[in-house]
This record gives sequence, structure tokens and C-alpha cells, in this order.
Amino acid sequence: MSALRPYRLERELDSAFYHWLAWLPSWVPAFGRRRYSACDVCPRYIDALGLHEIPHAPLHSLFGAVETLISHQFDREVDALFPDFRGSGEWEVSIAGGEVHIETPEGHSLEAVLAASGLTGGERPLVVVTPERAAQVQIALERTHWALFEISVARLGVQKQLILRAIDAHVEPKVRELADALVAEVCEPF
Ligand SMILES: [Zn+2]
Repeated sequence: MSALRPYRLERELDSAFYHWLAWLPSWVPAFGRRRYSACDVCPRYIDALGLHEIPHAPLHSLFGAVETLISHQFDREVDALFPDFRGSGEWEVSIAGGEVHIETPEGHSLEAVLAASGLTGGERPLVVVTPERAAQVQIALERTHWALFEISVARLGVQKQLILRAIDAHVEPKVRELADALVAEVCEPF
């Protein structure tokens, strides 16, 4: 479900992709970069696009930028779909690790608020958007966020051959060179 036809997101995705493509030749391998296994952005994209076996660092630049664009579009959609939701000042919406989180301004999760409101029964303070309504909004926003991810992956998928060729030309030789240099260092006689 998407309230807005995401032309703007699609334009921004294209622009981020060509920016990344232009930047890639200047990429250099380095130690101490964030490991793939600890990354909460790339694995979802790499699985969806079938880009396994490619070094994490150069892809992270691309998917990190895409993730930021998605979250900006998501913000616009939240306000288009549910104009009064954040306006009430009772709930905050964020994206983390590809999931939609709803919490109170004090940092209480929606799940905790729902559990507490079940216990207190009718003793609920006057609210504009009830926790039950917030739970419905969360389900709708999860669909929205998923749709934005799908749109982005489809847009990048069109460029997959270009991504693979660019990695082949600008990343693989540098990774090989670094590996050779390490081997040479280890094998150097005392
Ligand atoms: Zn990453």
C-alpha cells in the first residue's frame, strides 16, 4: 500500500545509483570496515538482488544511500496516509533494521503500551489516537515500508548487470591486489 506514486523516490534512487557508479572507481579496500554479518542494512538487499560473493564495503555505500531515501519517502507516506497520527504528539514512528517501530515520546514501545492498557482497563487517559488504533496504523505502515523496499529493489534490479560489471572492473582487482600483498608479506623471508 502506498499513498503516493513514488516518482520522487524512483528519481532519487536513479540519482543515488549513478552517483555510486561514478564514485566506485575511487573505492579502496581498507581494514576495519563494518562486517557484513554485523550490518543491519545490506543483507536484505543482497538477498533480494542475489549479490552474494561481492565485498560488503562498496555495496554498503549504495544500500546505505537507498535505505536513507526509503526512510525519507516513508516519512512522507506516514503523513499522507495518517495526517493526524504524528500530529497528535502521542506517537513517534521510526524505521530500524527494516522494521517499523512505534513508540511514545517517552520511549515506551507500542507493545508495552498495549499490554499496560489491557491491565488498567477503563482507567485510560484521554487520547487522540488510542493504542489499538496505533496498532492498526503499524500494520498499514509495515505494508507501506515493505512496498517501498520492493520498489527500490526492483529499480536496482534493472541495473544488476551494470552493478556486477562495475564491481568486476573497480573492486575485484583492488581486492586481489591487497590479497597478493598480504600473501607476499607473510611469505617474506626473515
Ligand atoms: Zn552493509
